Amino acid sequence: MPSQEQYVIVWFRRDLRLEDNLALRQALQHNLPVIPLYIWDDSLEGECARAWLAHALQDLDQQLHRCNSKLIIRRGSFEDVLNELVEEISVCAVYWNKVYEPGLFEADDRIQRSLRGRGVYVQSYNSRVLNDPLSIKNQQNQPYRVFTPFYKHCRKYNQEFCRRHYACYFPHSLPNLNREVVDDLDLLQPWGKSVIASWNPTREGGMARLRHFMEDSIANYKEGREFPAVDGTSKLSPYLHFGQISLHELISLVVESDLSEGIQNHFIRQIYWREFCYYTLFYFPYMTYQSLRPEFEQFPWEENGDYIDAWKYGKTGVPIVDAAMRQLWQTGWMHNRLRMITGSFLVKDLLQHWQHGMVWFHDTLIDSDIACNSFGWQWLAGSGSDATPYFRIFNPYKQSQQYDSGGEFLRTYLPELAALPDEWIHIPHLAPADVLQKAEITLGIDYPFPIVDHPEMRIKALSAYKSIRERKT
Ligand SMILES: Cc1cc2nc3c(=O)[nH]c(=O)nc-3n(C[C@H](O)[C@H](O)[C@H](O)COP(=O)(O)OP(=O)(O)OC[C@H]3O[C@@H](n4cnc5c(N)ncnc54)[C@H](O)[C@@H]3O)c2cc1C
Repeated sequence: MPSQEQYVIVWFRRDLRLEDNLALRQALQHNLPVIPLYIWDDSLEGECARAWLAHALQDLDQQLHRCNSKLIIRRGSFEDVLNELVEEISVCAVYWNKVYEPGLFEADDRIQRSLRGRGVYVQSYNSRVLNDPLSIKNQQNQPYRVFTPFYKHCRKYNQEFCRRHYACYFPHSLPNLNREVVDDLDLLQPWGKSVIASWNPTREGGMARLRHFMEDSIANYKEGREFPAVDGTSKLSPYLHFGQISLHELISLVVESDLSEGIQNHFIRQIYWREFCYYTLFYFPYMTYQSLRPEFEQFPWEENGDYIDAWKYGKTGVPIVDAAMRQLWQTGWMHNRLRMITGSFLVKDLLQHWQHGMVWFHDTLIDSDIACNSFGWQWLAGSGSDATPYFRIFNPYKQSQQYDSGGEFLRTYLPELAALPDEWIHIPHLAPADVLQKAEITLGIDYPFPIVDHPEMRIKALSAYKSIRERKT
């Protein structure tokens, strides 16, 4: 039975929180029953991130329960679900916080028009990034392509921004919902239990992580963030991806802390890298499937399924790469330094297209984010707009010796190498026979020989790069 009562919908997207949620706050201004809605779309997140999402939605539902409300989850296309609801019940307004990913941003425009055509008031806000990409252009009124000037521009513009806009709006009494609206939260089968087990994918889990980072790690972030065995980074990326913590909350906490400006800025700069990823994707939506530097479309990538499988499952014979890939598989996580080492190994040592790496990361990372992931891969491949020069090729063995000198990280994920002394654990293929024997390791049986020779592949990669440069000139 259609109800005569008027409703307001707040459509949750990647803003799964009640605090500092502009769309929710505005929806509540109507003083009408608010329907908190989430529209589930299987294609929206990577495989592993979807498990996080299921938990995050349950957590949001529990928070809403405490406010006498509940989350309505529907499946289907955004437009269809919203239009169905408008037909089912009397909806006078719909609010949401925008997303900026290709396809979604344009779809929002269409949805707005369609709802307005039905006489529904619609309003959407930016909370996904610090600045709406449309508001940031260089002096020639063109999008920035290089990070540093973009960062300087935004920081100047944002000086007061974070403080002014930050507020914690907790809706203490959400109205009761129309019970005719079907709630199928129970139909979601949260999976990936083993991966999720090491995380607390709730808003409270994110806030606890943030407090821990502020108390223990941020002061040493500049150095600590480089070492995979050290708990030196915030690990907030999945919480930021799903909007369980808002960017404004995070930055306000940092700028209002007693930490020196230098320390604050080291961390905030990284948040602006995220911002730059979104900005670049907004202006160059083909970034997920096409090189931003056109000459890289001619790069002579090799196609070798065995190499790709060895890389995915941590069987390349290069310990730091294998340990990192196993960490990813087991925990859904990989440290930034390791994302760079494993990524560089795939594109420059194995000469496999960065798309293979991007797709694997998309499905296995718990913080899988289309903007940061595609930007990261193009950066590594050298094909991005502000990318690492192609000729800078990481030596995975040296990186391992430098950033995990005591082999602590390697021993965690490669127990078969644990008995090797620090000197040899990074390079078991070069270890003397008696060292291997003492550690009871037979290469080729207990642990693979390297699938490629790094110095040889380095030369090959540089010559492949030269070939596309020559074509360009
Ligand atoms: C190949 C590759 C793929 C990546 N894929 C993703 C991805 O799918 N999702 C994702 O969130 N990040 C991705 N990153 C960026 C970065 O590795 C992660 O954001 C970071 O490791 C998350 O850990 P943290 O939260 O502890 O970071 P912290 O060091 O604590 O940084 C705080 C926040 O700043 C942002 N940030 C930090 N470094 C970067 C960076 N290099 N690029 C963009 N944002 C950054 C993140 O939002 C991060 O949570 C990728 C990097 C590479 C090289």
